[in-house]
Amino acid sequence: MTAVVGVAKEDRVGDRVRVRFAPSPTGQLHLGNARTALFNWLFARHAGGDFVLRIEDTDTARSTAESEVAILDDLRWLGLDWDEGPDVGGEFGPYRQSERAELYQREGARLLREGRAYPCYCSDEELDERREAARARGVEPHYDGRCRNLTDDERKAREAEGRSPVLRVRGPEHDVEIEDLVRGHVSFDRGMLGDFIILRSDGRPTYNFAVVVDDVLMKITHVIRAEDHLSNTLRQILLYEALGAQPPEFAHVSMVIASDGSKLSKRHGAASVGDTRRDGYLPAGVVNYLAMLGWSHPEAKEILSREEMAEAFELKRVSSHPAAFDEQKLMWVNGHHIREDDIGALLSNARPFVEAAGLDADDPRLESMVELVREGVERLVDLPTELRPLYDVEYDVEAEAADWLATPETAGLLTALADSLGGGGPEGGASGAALDEASFKAAIKAVGKERAVKGKELFMPVRAALTGRTHGPALGKIAEVLGLERVVARLRSAGAK
Ligand code: GLU
Repeated sequence: MTAVVGVAKEDRVGDRVRVRFAPSPTGQLHLGNARTALFNWLFARHAGGDFVLRIEDTDTARSTAESEVAILDDLRWLGLDWDEGPDVGGEFGPYRQSERAELYQREGARLLREGRAYPCYCSDEELDERREAARARGVEPHYDGRCRNLTDDERKAREAEGRSPVLRVRGPEHDVEIEDLVRGHVSFDRGMLGDFIILRSDGRPTYNFAVVVDDVLMKITHVIRAEDHLSNTLRQILLYEALGAQPPEFAHVSMVIASDGSKLSKRHGAASVGDTRRDGYLPAGVVNYLAMLGWSHPEAKEILSREEMAEAFELKRVSSHPAAFDEQKLMWVNGHHIREDDIGALLSNARPFVEAAGLDADDPRLESMVELVREGVERLVDLPTELRPLYDVEYDVEAEAADWLATPETAGLLTALADSLGGGGPEGGASGAALDEASFKAAIKAVGKERAVKGKELFMPVRAALTGRTHGPALGKIAEVLGLERVVARLRSAGAK
């Protein structure tokens, strides 16, 4: 299709909401940027609109292909799927700025033709000198407009000197005001800006020009981004005007900072999506927590799925105050998702952690083992410690558990229980046989009655013998997951000491 610049609001892709997340591939996906992506995604999904992913890689020195791959991977992991982007394509591509050079050239040429932009031949040295001189006079050092009204002959003369021009667009002639959907009324003083560069002498676009050309051509209706871009908005609005396009709605969300007010870094617990992945947070927990950093549910619900958030999401419930990252709260939210989310999603996220701990992730009991211990886990890194005693591997016996196993009554009690479970021989009970919670409980009760032991004295030695611990999930459930053979073998082994 031929993209049309300057579409009026009513000519946009129907009334369809179109938002974009526009990361620069210069490193990890920071949690602040991930939250920007999430707010865009929630906004698009709430409105039934489009979520566009655009890679802003004009800074060739700092952009890398690895970073782009990693950012896409983190977004996928978070479950923030995009409708158009560099990998999936779309009607308004390409979706990498490095592949859109022709479009910036074309739009620059049009602005030149229409007299909205002009070639400027001033050299860096000349500009520096004039800036210094302006400062010395106590004046804002804006471009002084020297090349603004050059005649054709004057231009030719400069070109004959071997000067290659930049392209400048005319600066503001009036103050600019916006109603930001998060920050409210914002006004920009025209004195803040002179005529500014949109294409460099080598033809590359400046940052703001590329962003606006893209947002216009991609028919973006709402620009939701971090507050540190508020200062770009004046230049951008002028560029919309110059291009004859309707500016989008703007929503500048506050920054994510550390609780001490500083820039968020790894020493505050986590700073990037990669950190949260490595530390064993679930994607559902991370997106839930990130949404709460600045947004609140109308009924103050805190534990929410992506779908529930998308249904309720509105920019008017996004706070304009900076949001402080709180690792404890992230853990708390994540713990809820570990306990409550679909076991399938939990298992697929858990597998790498199970494997890294040297435990068999293909054990057919994995699902029931994870079901058993998920209650007490807030991060997946802590999962293997809880799973270990359920496997046929060595595990630590806690000091307090060892004390219970060393009491004079214990050996007799454990052996009697093993016998009552039907494990006759020293090799344990029937191989692979099931043991259900109720019959295990009944067996303990019966042995307790017979030997006149109850309460802690009865249950602690059994728990210690089965898991090496004094705390954990319900004993009957542990026995069920271990199975008759392991239970009997562990009771006998502990009873023989
Ligand atoms: N590429 C910019 C960034 O990574 C985003 C620009 C925008 O959203 O307008 O911060």
